[in-house]
Amino acid sequence: MTMDDTIQQAIKKIVLRNAMEYGGSARYDVVISKVVGLRPDLRPIIKEQIPLIKKIVDEVNSLDRADQERMASKLMVFENVKKDAKRKEEPNLPPLQGASMGRVVTRFPPEPNGYPHIGHAKAAIIDQEYARMYDGRLILRFDDTNPLNEQLEFYEAIREGLEWLGIKPDLIKNTSDDMELLQSYGRKLVTNGDAYVCTCRPEDIHSMRAKGVNCPCRILDSSDNMTRLKKFFDGSFEQNEAIIRFKGDMSDLNTAMRDPTLFRIIDADHPKLGRRIRAFPTYDFAAPIEDSLDGVTHAMRTKEYELRNTLYFSVLRSLGLRKPFLLEFSRLEFEGMPVSKRKLKPLIQGGLVSGWDDPRLPTLAALRKRGILPEAIHKFVLSLGISLADTKPPFESLESYNRKLLDPISLRLFFVKNPVEIRIVNPTLSKVELKNHPTAQLGTRNVQTSDRIYIDKADADRLKGGQEIRLMELHNIRLDEAIRGKAAEYLRVLNTGQEIKTNIPKVQWVSNNDMVPFTVIVPDKPFINEEFNKDSLYTYNGIAESYVSKVRAGSNIQFVRFGFCRLQTNGVAIYTHD
Ligand SMILES: [Zn+2]
Repeated sequence: MTMDDTIQQAIKKIVLRNAMEYGGSARYDVVISKVVGLRPDLRPIIKEQIPLIKKIVDEVNSLDRADQERMASKLMVFENVKKDAKRKEEPNLPPLQGASMGRVVTRFPPEPNGYPHIGHAKAAIIDQEYARMYDGRLILRFDDTNPLNEQLEFYEAIREGLEWLGIKPDLIKNTSDDMELLQSYGRKLVTNGDAYVCTCRPEDIHSMRAKGVNCPCRILDSSDNMTRLKKFFDGSFEQNEAIIRFKGDMSDLNTAMRDPTLFRIIDADHPKLGRRIRAFPTYDFAAPIEDSLDGVTHAMRTKEYELRNTLYFSVLRSLGLRKPFLLEFSRLEFEGMPVSKRKLKPLIQGGLVSGWDDPRLPTLAALRKRGILPEAIHKFVLSLGISLADTKPPFESLESYNRKLLDPISLRLFFVKNPVEIRIVNPTLSKVELKNHPTAQLGTRNVQTSDRIYIDKADADRLKGGQEIRLMELHNIRLDEAIRGKAAEYLRVLNTGQEIKTNIPKVQWVSNNDMVPFTVIVPDKPFINEEFNKDSLYTYNGIAESYVSKVRAGSNIQFVRFGFCRLQTNGVAIYTHD
């Protein structure tokens, strides 16, 4: 096969797949973006390929469904998809160092300071997958040692998100359950001389850290330090008046080791402890101790913590506690959909998005609302493996897993986004039975037809251009004369018969006798570069066949020639993807 033949065949496959997904009529614009997406090598020469793509789209659209299916099977369009999917579905996780069957304990330690997002999903899935791989245990530990950030609502949101994802921890606990224990370890470190109470002003601590010089507190004699230690835990210090610091090395090139903070005083209501505790351990102190005492064998975290690994092990060494293995993986977020609280919170607080579950956000609540399936997230995350390479995959890479799962289970229904009325001069049918899915056994529905039908403006424009089109599963039409009704705008058309014609577009329609007003909300990426994208949510107010009102809210459907959507309540759906 020559290079040209290979390209031609690759394009043909894309077109055929698209035609299957769009009710037998491939969409030229979608095909082009797929070609570019699936064959980045063709991107530079896409202009030259356009006539070829056009030709193939016309050729495929001119075939009837049976011929399209025959051609698809000859080219193994779907076999390849299945094979690729299978290969990618296999867990991509390398074996764990020092692991043996039945003895692995992993943990997922979110801070309850926001709604869980795709980054949390990655960590939780990898933690669970490793626990399963070794027939071990998974602990969900809420790392709640900063009452300024944490709220009860977020514990619940994390539990719900994980439940939806199918993460089943063997134990659920809070770091705050162990506060007394952690404080006693803090006292022990100071008593042993591995830590000290520092009463320098926060800005001085900051500048001494930057310069790498010791503060005077570090060399206080032990009795003075013990007096301070007593004061630290009995409530004599105000917030910001004192911290406990680990004796690292103020000249260490790794700045995480420049006498990091282990405890600080915070006067705020803790969601679980109220005001019972004022001296709170930092993550750097609590995490290694909790991991060690909980029996965690393999502690995984994202690679921003890499510089803090030395500290993690130093704390455990000073306390004589068992060391787990530490592993890093890269953090996950999608292009244009940052996960950081710093970026998301202002959007929520400023009312720029409707809440943590706004469908533009990468939170699990949002992904769920827009129709992403938990199984797709699993497959996607495992396809990435635990590489350290920082990648921001496009959201489309998750979509492709989701699409394969939605395709066989989603009802095919008609929605017309910019409705234009057509009046059929010589209608023939009063009722048609439509299949809810081209291949899966999802039942049928009856639609009352009418001489008044609505089609998308883009399709009406083709009619006006003189083209004959087919109302899917109904009959063909051609413009009679482009006159406008006196009361309403409409086009008069002639029924030109039911014969399946090869090269005419097949379009979805909604009958005047069988319709409901319907709104589809389409989320786009919330950020363009660093800026909030004000146009990231748009709405199509159109009409849908009335059958849609009988479908349960929360169902995934596909509006033919529009895309997959998830039904909300009251005549609204959120667009999932094409
Ligand atoms: Zn000091």
